[in-house]
Amino acid sequence: MNLEKINRFFDFIQKNNLAFQRNTLLAEFTTFRLGGNCPCLVFCKSPDQLTAVVRELTTLDLPYLLIGGGSNLLISDEGLSVIVIRYVSDNLDIVTEKNELIISAASNLDDFAKYTVNHGIGGFVNCSGIPGTVGGAVVGNAGAFGWQTGDAVNSVTVIDKHGNLNELLPDDIGFKYRHSELKIRHDIVVSVRLKIETGDPEALQIERDRILELRSSKHPDLKIFSCAGSFFKNIEPTSAADRRQASGWFLEQAGVKTMRFGGAGIFSKHANIIIQSESNCTAQDVYELSKQMASAVKAEFNIDLKREVLLVGRFENRIER
Ligand SMILES: Cc1cc2nc3c(=O)[nH]c(=O)nc-3n(C[C@H](O)[C@H](O)[C@H](O)COP(=O)(O)OP(=O)(O)OC[C@H]3O[C@@H](n4cnc5c(N)ncnc54)[C@H](O)[C@@H]3O)c2cc1C
Repeated sequence: MNLEKINRFFDFIQKNNLAFQRNTLLAEFTTFRLGGNCPCLVFCKSPDQLTAVVRELTTLDLPYLLIGGGSNLLISDEGLSVIVIRYVSDNLDIVTEKNELIISAASNLDDFAKYTVNHGIGGFVNCSGIPGTVGGAVVGNAGAFGWQTGDAVNSVTVIDKHGNLNELLPDDIGFKYRHSELKIRHDIVVSVRLKIETGDPEALQIERDRILELRSSKHPDLKIFSCAGSFFKNIEPTSAADRRQASGWFLEQAGVKTMRFGGAGIFSKHANIIIQSESNCTAQDVYELSKQMASAVKAEFNIDLKREVLLVGRFENRIER
């Protein structure tokens, strides 16, 4: 990257009192706790900060990557040569209107689910316990128990690659299973307008407790295990009459649960979750193990699994973004 432009960017973030770190280890900002350094990590907490930073980077023509909670990412061991923006806020930034609310994409998704339960707002209890930010959930159309983020979206405010703010409607966003067009266009989600309905706080709390208990019986506790949730997407139906099938079932039948590569292994209760099973685990180990898992399912069922976790950086001489 051009040194003069980078120095101009440093001047900008210092003038605007934005928090940043130089030569930062990205492992600290992903739930896999893997990934090398980036030259600069800028912390944006509010829509205004994010908009200003993205506009400055666009004006300077400096490449960047935006991350939220880092819960769906595998960043390569050699790290990234671009500036990384972390758009995460500890506070919920919500404005409630008649039948909708506007929330900053930096908000934590599970904190938001808890907020809706406490305020008797229906429609979001199923996202209880999903790690990451509202922005990450919109871009990847995160979901659980038949619910997907895109179902609740009225519109999304994004910054496009030219630094312009636009409001996009669901038809422009193209939500699909664990996918949206935002991923391809690299639009930055600033805030989201969500449809809301009235719910009974007591019933919602019972449902939230049930979901959290169910998740903790099947998913790794992130305080103990480093992972990014399901590594592969579930398998799309081949006809309208079929249902999506759990990749975990195929992986388990293909015998992957005992597989290891370097320090990477499989979570004992879920064949679709790769964890750091030893402290010397590298991102490359995870990548190699995932290839072995996919090959096992291909050999046993002739099914090509598709990754849900996003690879960023260089793996096997391929640059992923
Ligand atoms: C234990 C565990 C359980 C999980 N369970 C589920 C589950 O039940 N359902 C499910 O769907 N997922 C699940 N996940 C995966 C993950 O939590 C979701 O994909 C989550 O929505 C990712 O959000 P994030 O903020 O962490 O995004 P990141 O991982 O930080 O980023 C993911 C992608 O989104 C982009 N992005 C993030 N924020 C923005 C933004 N504001 N604007 C533009 N692009 C952005 C990034 O550039 C990147 O391409 C789980 C993960 C873990 C670790």
